[in-house]
Amino acid sequence: MKHFPIFVALTGQRVVVSGAGECAVAKLRLILKTEARVEVYGTSPHTQITTWVNEGKLTHIPRPLRAGDARGARLFYAANDDAENDGQAAEHAMADGVLTNVVDNLGDSQFITPAIVDRDPVVVAIGTEGAAPVLARDIKRRVEEMLPTTLGSLTRIGQKFRARAEMLPMGRIRRAFWSAFYFKSGPEAFTRGAAEDALEDEFNRHLVAVTEGRVDLVGAGPGDPELLTLKARNLLHEADVVIHDALVPPAVLELARREAVIIEAGKRGFGPSWKQDDINDLLVDHARKGHHVVRLKSGDPGIFGRLEEEAQSLSSAGVPFAIVPGVTSASAAAASIGQPLTRRGQNSAVRLLTAHDMKGYAEADWRGLTAPGAVAAIYMGKKAARFLQGRMLMFGADRLTPVTVVENASQPSQRILPTTLMGLPDVTDGLEGPAIMLVGLAPRPAADALTQLTEDFA
Ligand code: SAH
Repeated sequence: MKHFPIFVALTGQRVVVSGAGECAVAKLRLILKTEARVEVYGTSPHTQITTWVNEGKLTHIPRPLRAGDARGARLFYAANDDAENDGQAAEHAMADGVLTNVVDNLGDSQFITPAIVDRDPVVVAIGTEGAAPVLARDIKRRVEEMLPTTLGSLTRIGQKFRARAEMLPMGRIRRAFWSAFYFKSGPEAFTRGAAEDALEDEFNRHLVAVTEGRVDLVGAGPGDPELLTLKARNLLHEADVVIHDALVPPAVLELARREAVIIEAGKRGFGPSWKQDDINDLLVDHARKGHHVVRLKSGDPGIFGRLEEEAQSLSSAGVPFAIVPGVTSASAAAASIGQPLTRRGQNSAVRLLTAHDMKGYAEADWRGLTAPGAVAAIYMGKKAARFLQGRMLMFGADRLTPVTVVENASQPSQRILPTTLMGLPDVTDGLEGPAIMLVGLAPRPAADALTQLTEDFA
């Protein structure tokens, strides 16, 4: 970008124009839209300039611009329609320290005037750095079509309403309210002289919408914010309330809207935690207050996430909800060791198991798990390592079956701990972060992909 777009405050400021002919008149039509004090230098003025002088819109000094004339002005235009005169005038203005534009001369100008779509106070400026004036005109035409001609007047009406509009919660509903007024009901009502009424109606309609809360049950992925889905990120931008698991790291929560209320409803496998019923009630309560609630769960909400209980309780309460999938920790862990979860010709199935359920250790299809080549991802298994080992050996598993434990998968603190079924309890003892066990998988040996990955965390 060679030119930086800004909007310059011109109210009460001097704008000096050198030239009083047709070229100057064209520029003046634009400049006179502002509240600047405009001074025009030049002999034999165009009749339009005389008219403007008579209307008190500008001051005309009937001689060429001299050194010092432009001093203290905010902007200067050389508009003599004559290269030599323009050059001379621009030199004076620049020596006076005034930001200078030479009309139709990009190279000698310190600033350029963009193509403008004027719906004052809404102004759209379009620039192509002089590279494609035709394109600029085309874009201008399209923007003109896009913005109703009434937009300026509507904006003024809307401006007075801003304090009241703050009664609508910031985000989705407030945006929908303004957009409906500016682009739908407003323009139509304006032609009937009823824009104020339309605004009032639109406001009341959206106030009712406020009472319609909803809940999105959203997967936060394994912890790396870049592994969030776009949908999850967008919902975080919109939510009024975010209720999250203990496993969702701060780096993800930072993506929530600044004004959002953030509540941790953590359920730790061991230690103090929220009761599921209380979490269900919390979701329903907030939705009934009209809030847009994002229930953020680590990984995928449908995998060991108590999704059924929450969905069921929302459904019985008549609260609308949606489920947004996420990257489950098994996927992230497998990726971190450079391995697939299923492999052609070796394992055509992968088991997602938990070694720990509400009643204690969880039983599973141990025989299937011990088949050669079988792959399983074991969630919440840290404390159950010895139990798991015992069961698998009992059902005939090879003691040297590879097992890889991945702690804090996808996070800067990620640790990859390769071992075997025999060594498993030693590895899981003393792990602090969430960890997943990949049974039947060892890290890909000395693979380039893996070196690449671990370097990221070095
Ligand atoms: N819904 C989650 C699982 C929740 S159960 C998902 O799809 O991943 C909690 C268990 O998930 C933890 O005990 C641990 O086994 C696993 N887990 C969650 N995040 C993890 C991470 N970043 N690294 C390793 N394991 C993780």
